[in-house]
Amino acid sequence: MSVMKSREMLTMYSYLSGTPQILAPRLGGVNRRHQKPRLLAFGVQPGYTTPVAPPKPDRTTGCDKPLVRLLELARSRAADIDRFYVRLRLRRVRDLDRLFREAHARAFATVDCLRCAACCRSPGPRLNPADVRRLADHLDTRPAAFAERYLSIDEDQDTVFRTLPCPFLEPDNRCSVYAARPKACREYPHTDQKGMHGLLRITARNALLCPAVYLVTKDLGRKLNPRG
Ligand code: SF4
Ligand code: SF4
Repeated sequence: MSVMKSREMLTMYSYLSGTPQILAPRLGGVNRRHQKPRLLAFGVQPGYTTPVAPPKPDRTTGCDKPLVRLLELARSRAADIDRFYVRLRLRRVRDLDRLFREAHARAFATVDCLRCAACCRSPGPRLNPADVRRLADHLDTRPAAFAERYLSIDEDQDTVFRTLPCPFLEPDNRCSVYAARPKACREYPHTDQKGMHGLLRITARNALLCPAVYLVTKDLGRKLNPRG
């Protein structure tokens, strides 16, 4: 796992004031990001760069206030979230993948990624060679030229975007390379994947980065009550 550079951490979150009562518009209960050409990100998981400290307030992101408020709530409950996932890791919960999948669907029926894009602003995906080739092809350039312009190697020798927010994030929160976006972007925030028990540590961190993961966490907390 790599460590976020302080410059990148400054872009991690938006800290606007706001109330949590409204969430993003729904589209028939389906997350818009699956329907529109935009990305959706990465975060903290094998294949992603990893923030190690809470982000600092930053007012430059395009995240809607209610979603920012959710992130603020998540951060204020970071210790509880961490405890929840530690306890969950110690349990054998039957059908954990299904429970996550259902909570994921409920969360993304509420959260509109086009009104968030926090994950495109930080912490940034780690790219693999296939990602680089695909993106270069998409942009009609050579991988070496693409890498020289957009990529850098971080202190963990991971390939990451040279700048954050992502250079392909558009002002309206869409991804300009959506069809060719990195695998990490496609799979984020990983709460609907198989083998969730092995992803609990990462999910605990993502709950502080992604408002949808925070909702998933709250949802599961109510269902599983790991203290019981
Ligand atoms: S390529 Fe950039 S803008 Fe597109 S989904 Fe990934 S991080 Fe977001
Ligand atoms: S941080 Fe979560 S809610 Fe926000 S755009 Fe990324 S996946 Fe969607």
